[in-house]
Amino acid sequence: MRIAVLSDVHANLAALRCVLDDADRRRALDAVWSLGDFVGYGPQPNEVLALLRAYELKAVSGNHDLAAVGAIDTDDFNPAAAAASRWGAETLTDESVAFLSGLEPILRDRQTGVVGCHGSLRSPAWEYVLSEEAALAQFDLMDVPWSFVGHTHIPLVIEERAEGDLRARHLSDGNSVRLGNHRLILNPGGVGQPRDGDPRASYAILDTDAATVEFHRVPYPIAETQALMQAAGLPESLIRRLERGT
Ligand code: ZN
Repeated sequence: MRIAVLSDVHANLAALRCVLDDADRRRALDAVWSLGDFVGYGPQPNEVLALLRAYELKAVSGNHDLAAVGAIDTDDFNPAAAAASRWGAETLTDESVAFLSGLEPILRDRQTGVVGCHGSLRSPAWEYVLSEEAALAQFDLMDVPWSFVGHTHIPLVIEERAEGDLRARHLSDGNSVRLGNHRLILNPGGVGQPRDGDPRASYAILDTDAATVEFHRVPYPIAETQALMQAAGLPESLIRRLERGT
C-alpha cells in the first residue's frame, strides 16, 4: 500500500489539489490519511472537505477543526487565526460541521502499526512535538513503532536511537526515511500553510511494502488562494505568509 499522509490543509483547495495530483502520479492514493486542521486560515473549507471525503480517508481532528464546530474556544488563538476561525465557522455547511464533529483525536491503523494524531498523543489538539521533552513523552505513549503528528507545519522526523537518545532531522523535497529498527515520530509538514520557509505544499507517502516514508514538496498557484482569501476578507497577515512559507 502507498498512502498519502497529509496534515494542516487549512482550507487551501489549490494546494490540496496539487498534492493529490502529485500523489496520484506517484501511485500513492491507496488511502489518504489526514492529521487534522482541514479548516481554519484558508478560503475553501467546504470544498476541501468534499474533495478529501471522495478518497479512502482516515482522519483525526485538529484544533482549528474543533474551533470551527465550537468544540473548543479560540481564546488561545492569535487574533488573525481567531478571525479566520470565526469566518470559517460561519461558512461551513451542515454536512461539513457533521463531518468535523465526528472526527476522533487519535487514529490507529492495525494493518500498518501506525498511530496518528494532530498535536501529540498526550494533548492531541494542542501540543507541538518540537522539544525533546515533548518527543520523549510521545515515545512513552506509543505502543507501536511509528507515529505521525502534524500541527507544526514543519516536515520532521525524530528517531529514537536508544532509550532517551533522540535525533531530529528536518526533511526536504525527495527525502526518504526508512522504517527500520528504531522508533520514529514523523511529521509530513503542512499542505495548506507551510512554515519552514519553503512555500510549496508539503506531504508524505507511507509505503508499507518498501517500509519507507517519502517526503515531497509540491508547487501550487499560491496567488489563486490569496485572491480568494482577499475576496473573503480574511486577515492580510494570513494572506502574505503563504508566499513566504512561514
Ligand atoms: Zn495547523
